[in-house]
Amino acid sequence: MKNYIFLASAFLLFSCADKKVADAQPRKPKNIILLIGDGMGLAQVYAGMVANGDALNIERFKHIGFHKSYSFDNIITDSAAGATAFSCGEKSYNGAIGVGTDSLALETILETAEKKGLATALVATSSVTHATPACFIAHQKSRALDENIAADFLKTDIDVFIGGGKDFFEKRSDSLNLLEKLKTNGYGIANGDAEILAFTGTKLAGFIAPVQPDSASGTRGDILHKATQKAIEIVSKNPQGFFMMAEGSQIDWGGHANKQTYIIQEMLDFDKAIGKALDFAEKDGNTLVIVTADHETGGFAIMGGSIKDRIVESAFTTTHHTGVMIPVYAYGPGAEEFGGIYQNTDIYHKMMGLLGLKK
Ligand code: MG
Ligand code: ZN
Repeated sequence: MKNYIFLASAFLLFSCADKKVADAQPRKPKNIILLIGDGMGLAQVYAGMVANGDALNIERFKHIGFHKSYSFDNIITDSAAGATAFSCGEKSYNGAIGVGTDSLALETILETAEKKGLATALVATSSVTHATPACFIAHQKSRALDENIAADFLKTDIDVFIGGGKDFFEKRSDSLNLLEKLKTNGYGIANGDAEILAFTGTKLAGFIAPVQPDSASGTRGDILHKATQKAIEIVSKNPQGFFMMAEGSQIDWGGHANKQTYIIQEMLDFDKAIGKALDFAEKDGNTLVIVTADHETGGFAIMGGSIKDRIVESAFTTTHHTGVMIPVYAYGPGAEEFGGIYQNTDIYHKMMGLLGLKK
């Protein structure tokens, strides 16, 4: 009896000590949702905040850092080199889609995640073949090769992709119908918001436009946050976890057009998607949400206005991108790793490490 009690208390002590060690280790996420606001610098975020009554979902983040956005050979990156840094962990040349400076393919975090059994998804308010989403699944020497990029979607068993660009899959110069191939590979093809949101299968190719979707204030409407939620709903069924990227693609286009209203409307649209991701992460407890941008667009500056009246007065210094550091917001297990100042490529390395995918 004495021996038994001794053994039992030794076991208790041992398991308590063991638990302490486990608690001391930083927790790791099972899932990552990366949200990219293309062209979203601090002024874009703050303009959205002012216009929305001094409040945005993005304020729910407690861990914030900055990344250095420059590309391999240019202090001002484009979206292709910017997204290749996030997806592959290397600074490449402007225009590069998932390739290094030698134009050779680099394995993306989405491809690695898929290989390791995680579910994967891409959502964008541009064509899915546009630079930002393309860099997570395609390998092309130039961002202009939309048809080649579309064909690359068939080389990885991605679970969900939603965006514009249907024409690049079915109205092609090589007359291949990639939609038929997608169906053969088990995808449900959904056309338009209603079909996408009603989808109940496990592999979804959802199209919201033949080429580039309209703006949030136009016919595109508020599909981004709904599509983000739909993608989460599908990929979160995988017990091994998931990696997904959702992009507010057109904040950048408002910057190029030097249109403040366009920027703010796209910013608020993107912030709603951020809200959906955070709602899921709060409930789930095992999901890391990261929000960042590839670069700033427009040299957008807030020159006046009124918090009370939700008015922003602004100015632009360019119709192109600028080279400023870009904020990174993180929530969930591993979020503390995103404080500080680091390279855009470090976002890839941090995500790979946290998901246990590091090679
Ligand atoms: Mg983009
Ligand atoms: Zn741009």
